[in-house]
Amino acid sequence: MNKIFEILKQKKLQIFFLFYIFLVLPFLCILAQNLSIFETSFIIIINILLFLSVLLLSLFMSTKTEKIIYSIILVISILPGTIFLGYLLFAKVLLEQNSITSLFETNPEESKEFLVYYLNSWVVLGVSFYAILPAVMVGLMRSAKSLTIRKHKKLFIIALTTVLAIVFIPNISKSVYFLNFYRTYISYKIRVKKETWGIAERQKHPYEVSNMYADSIPQTIVVVIGESQSKKHMQLYGYERKTNPLLSAKNDSLHIYTDVVPPQVHTIPVMRSILTLGEHDCPEFFIEKPSLFELFNRAGYTTYLISNQSFGGPLGTSYDVLLNLAQHKYDLSSENKHDEVVLKTFTKALKKAPANNKLIVIHLIGNHMAYKFRYPPQFAKFDNTKDDFIKPNNFISNQVIPVIDEYDNSILYNDYVVNKILDTLIEKGGAKTSLVYFSDHAEELYNYRNFAGHAYEKISPYMCEIPFFVWISERFSNNRNDIVIEPSRPYSTADLVYSISNLAGIDYIDYDKKRSLFSPDFKPSERYVGSHLWEDLIAR
Ligand SMILES: [Zn+2]
Repeated sequence: MNKIFEILKQKKLQIFFLFYIFLVLPFLCILAQNLSIFETSFIIIINILLFLSVLLLSLFMSTKTEKIIYSIILVISILPGTIFLGYLLFAKVLLEQNSITSLFETNPEESKEFLVYYLNSWVVLGVSFYAILPAVMVGLMRSAKSLTIRKHKKLFIIALTTVLAIVFIPNISKSVYFLNFYRTYISYKIRVKKETWGIAERQKHPYEVSNMYADSIPQTIVVVIGESQSKKHMQLYGYERKTNPLLSAKNDSLHIYTDVVPPQVHTIPVMRSILTLGEHDCPEFFIEKPSLFELFNRAGYTTYLISNQSFGGPLGTSYDVLLNLAQHKYDLSSENKHDEVVLKTFTKALKKAPANNKLIVIHLIGNHMAYKFRYPPQFAKFDNTKDDFIKPNNFISNQVIPVIDEYDNSILYNDYVVNKILDTLIEKGGAKTSLVYFSDHAEELYNYRNFAGHAYEKISPYMCEIPFFVWISERFSNNRNDIVIEPSRPYSTADLVYSISNLAGIDYIDYDKKRSLFSPDFKPSERYVGSHLWEDLIAR
């Protein structure tokens, strides 16, 4: 025992290094608002065990071996450590699986804007210091005596077994930040491979989709997906700033739904859900059941995807496999333009194949952070220094007021773009047309705390209150008296495929009329946002 203490005395720097790598971040989890006391304590205990076991093993190592092993630990832990630390410091959350996965999926442009929005000099300074300090420590380590395994067999076996158990038992290794990071990455890669293969495979097998209202006039259905749009900032939903002057003028012909929520608060999981029949309780339906484009392809529609968000690139997302099923795909994001870039391609799509039924999905960049990049200068209309609309309070400081102005300007521009899409459809889309508009998820904007954005770890009802409206041409609705419009129906866009199928009048074995927003047989079902029941979220 004396010998152990003697060695430990010589290894002060090593002890400090291990404490730094294994315990600083777990102790900072106390800051995380998305963890319960139980979860934080569990993380701390597991990491203390890991720290002590590695420290015991280090007693058996020569300083040279130690330096090599610590350098490896440093290399693998520093990137995840920096990311987790950054989020803990600026967002006060410990990243959860879903968000770690989206780190591997987000396109670089989006990440850049996100960083620009949240970074400040303190975060940069803190994170740089965090990364450099342990490298200096490894360099400064001095040689010390070591124990022999032969004489301390028991101690060695206990320490080694503990380390191996923590690394290889999944429910425990989840608590060690860098193990969690790499495990998530590997399982994400395996999942995407499996899904891509499964979905491609399924296309080879027959699946009957029938068209119940086929007639000589072709119909065109347009689905426009917005981004990070809160209905609380829309004039269409009663916001006092005139952010929807153009769509409000069409108010009589728009059916504005008031109780629609998304299945998640991040783009990727939302898109995965709304494009498929995948369900909260049956995620395997993502592969097993057909998705939106596939159903419409099989129903004889010509299908289009026009997107101002990137897809299909080397940093592809896990829903690219669904988007790529569209027969005509246009990724306009590389042009780096505002959303009106979609109009030209949309007009072309309307003119193409005039005798065919069409499904056209338009994915906008909408109101995504940073808001000031989302509109051209002529839409910079709202300015609090002029209208004194926003009053500062505990969570709205004078610094954030311009951000709210910018968000409202981006809504004003979105009003212009969506109105233009609708006008183009009315003018060039033929007689039987319809348009469904909604946002993937909403956005919190200093509503009750000093926070703007959307993050599952900080989920609030404000991130879920999305706009959803429908426009249907006269010829379309005259032909379809089975379509029911009740804008107060409680709905989740998780069931979107059923509603669009219903609108098109296509039928297939998995179609469930109770889940279509437009069906006379509609039945409200339990709505989940991630793993939260919507009712529980609003009750909080
Ligand atoms: Zn989004």
